[in-house]
Amino acid sequence: MTNGPSNLGGGIQSAEGDEDPSVSLFREYLRLRTVHPEPDYDAALKFLDRMASELGLPVVKVEVCPGRVVAIMTWMGTNPGLKSILLNSHTDVVPVYKEHWKYDPFAAFKDADGNIYARGTQDMKCVTIQYIEAIRRLKAKGQTFARTTHLMFVPDEEVGGHKGMEMFINHPEFKNLNVGFALDEGLANPGEAFTVFYGERNPWWLTVRCPGSPGHGSRFVENTAAEKLRSVINSFLDFREKEKHRLNTSECFTLGDVTTVNMTMLNGGVAYNVIPAEMDVSFDMRIPPAVNLQEFEEQIKRWCREAGEDVTYEFAQKHMNQTVTSTDESDPWWHAFSCTCKSLNMTLKKEIFPAATDSRFIRAVGLPAIGFSPMNHTPILLHDHNEYLNEQVFLRGIQVYEKLVPALASIPPQPGEE
Ligand SMILES: [Zn+2]
Repeated sequence: MTNGPSNLGGGIQSAEGDEDPSVSLFREYLRLRTVHPEPDYDAALKFLDRMASELGLPVVKVEVCPGRVVAIMTWMGTNPGLKSILLNSHTDVVPVYKEHWKYDPFAAFKDADGNIYARGTQDMKCVTIQYIEAIRRLKAKGQTFARTTHLMFVPDEEVGGHKGMEMFINHPEFKNLNVGFALDEGLANPGEAFTVFYGERNPWWLTVRCPGSPGHGSRFVENTAAEKLRSVINSFLDFREKEKHRLNTSECFTLGDVTTVNMTMLNGGVAYNVIPAEMDVSFDMRIPPAVNLQEFEEQIKRWCREAGEDVTYEFAQKHMNQTVTSTDESDPWWHAFSCTCKSLNMTLKKEIFPAATDSRFIRAVGLPAIGFSPMNHTPILLHDHNEYLNEQVFLRGIQVYEKLVPALASIPPQPGEE
């Protein structure tokens, strides 16, 4: 059967004939243009309202700042005093370069192999629908669990989460959710294993200012900005090489385990024949939780001192939260998570997330959060052209949550609860 654009009608009763209704729903959701810079939030909220009513769940919407609404569906547990499970996902997606796509990135085209192409197939509309479909199936079987499960939908993860999760996490409505453990997005894994993330690197964005003696471009002026700049750049980029080497020579390291350094901006100079009074260089650094941040900053100070007098630095962004979520088998949340995966014959690969997600805000308030998008045998294509997910991988993910939610929501009361 071919899926031409003529039958991209949407809805569960799509023209795809014998297509699984969960796949049809996924494709319908993918067609909503929740894409930056002007995401269609109304479409997303309308869709979520419909989902809530289909699932028979109450939905609460909180406008955390103008135009930014967080929606929460709640499936009450039989013992609502216990800490709850939070299933978090973001509704927004990153922009596309349409000319680089094989298919319209908002048509959710499915090829003969069952690969569904659309922005958000991996990041992270798949997970949203998997949560919803898992809950739908559990409810249809009449199941109930002790702990409450919240499905939370945030609007702006892709632009930093500052007007979504970061604000909401300190909102009274969030505290009322009484969250004990959160699941949030992860990354695909091209192999058989599933990757799970228990921490993130801290982004440090800094600019180093190198002042120097100005003068005429025809002379050998001492103490120039450019000489200092060269020293600074060498120090940062030598370190970059060492970290790259460490990553490439160790079997057990992933990107999340090393510090990345990239020189991203360079400023200075006014004319060919004028030696400038200042030159600046900016770096994007991502530092794993295991690194001692104080010592790391001492090293930056040393590099600046070595470059010459008056070389200073300033941060545009300096994250200091090194909280990681326990992946010790003695931890009840992790134990329930990992045992369930084991029972499904899934191999887990524990990693530090190389970039940033909304999980960092959850961990920063002391709550455990695992980044997990159940996609194996899938190339990592988030934010990339031709982002796709195979329908079989997608459907398997629903089954995974069908087991994970009961396991997590049935964890017996822990010390301090009730
Ligand atoms: Zn994402």
